[in-house]
Amino acid sequence: SIRAPAAKKTTTLTVAVKCRPLMEKERGRDIVRVNNSKEVIVLDPDLSKDYLDRIQNRTKEKKYCFDHAFGPESTNKNVYRSMSSVISGVVQGLNATVFAYGSTGSGKTYTMVGTRSDPGLMVLSLNTIFDMIKSDKSSDDFEVTCSYLEVYNEVIYDLLEKSSGHLELREDPEQGIVVAGLRSIKVFSADRILELLNLGNSRRKTESTEMNGTSSRSHAVLEIAVKRRQKNQNQVMRGKLALVDLAGSERAAETNNGGQKLRDGANINRSLLALANCINALGKQHKKGLAYVPYRNSKLTRILKDGLSGNSQTVMVATISPADSQYHHTVNTLKYADRAK
Ligand code: ADP
Ligand code: MG
Repeated sequence: SIRAPAAKKTTTLTVAVKCRPLMEKERGRDIVRVNNSKEVIVLDPDLSKDYLDRIQNRTKEKKYCFDHAFGPESTNKNVYRSMSSVISGVVQGLNATVFAYGSTGSGKTYTMVGTRSDPGLMVLSLNTIFDMIKSDKSSDDFEVTCSYLEVYNEVIYDLLEKSSGHLELREDPEQGIVVAGLRSIKVFSADRILELLNLGNSRRKTESTEMNGTSSRSHAVLEIAVKRRQKNQNQVMRGKLALVDLAGSERAAETNNGGQKLRDGANINRSLLALANCINALGKQHKKGLAYVPYRNSKLTRILKDGLSGNSQTVMVATISPADSQYHHTVNTLKYADRAK
């Protein structure tokens, strides 16, 4: 078994922002007028980092500059195209992590899972992987496996099992950190993956909060592992892609609900905070060389370690709503995404 090509040693981080369309009920045309919201997001393709630095203090508008920005008319495919090279690296034995970060209702699940007519990044990634395998000219053998788990309250559950118990993390001398007992299924095409993801998502721990009807309070991780056996060299290359639908980023304090739910919030923040700290450290590592990356501080970061270290590629998709009612959340998300760079 050999390691992935060691072209570069640092983890690259790409940050994309996706703004969803204003929903009918937000426009106030619906029978139930929810918000009568106005759109407060403007995308400017001509904005550059230099220009931004020069004008930042001269205007009331807040301006941010990211690697990629997608407006309300963009499809998941548009978002996907900006990161397709990251995904294709997995077939070459590289590791990668793609995660959606944003407040509840901003479009994380839509971006990661999507619909039949607008399949999300999880489905599109698997499509690419199978297309590459199909068109591969070598006589290599490929094996693609998937697992789907959630981290809720710092406990891991299997989303591919009907009623999963608590799963534990183990350090395996060969494979690194593994989730003991997690179901891993062999996949032969991307055909049924959307059904599988929707079934898995129906098992996610959701709960009403004061702020939203149902809010996803767990982190969901789809891991796609590609094993490539090179015929003539008798070698095996392994690439792993983790696609993460994070829990809502809104803070526990804002939701004003006590007891159990507050504990959820605190733990969600623990994993999110740990992830933020890792991302920050990776940024520093990129600029200044070695920096300590605190993976051990949460279940989520331990699970994602392989895809956030070494020569992995990390993509953050920050999802936002265009509505003025969500302004506060949007600013928080954009600040978080901006700090990640
Ligand atoms: P989150 O997972 O962040 O809580 P969702 O993905 O569930 O948010 O999105 C909230 C709502 O917005 C859903 O009704 C979803 O269908 C809709 N939505 C999100 N993004 C889009 C989009 N790009 N196009 C159309 N509808 C969207
Ligand atoms: Mg969701």
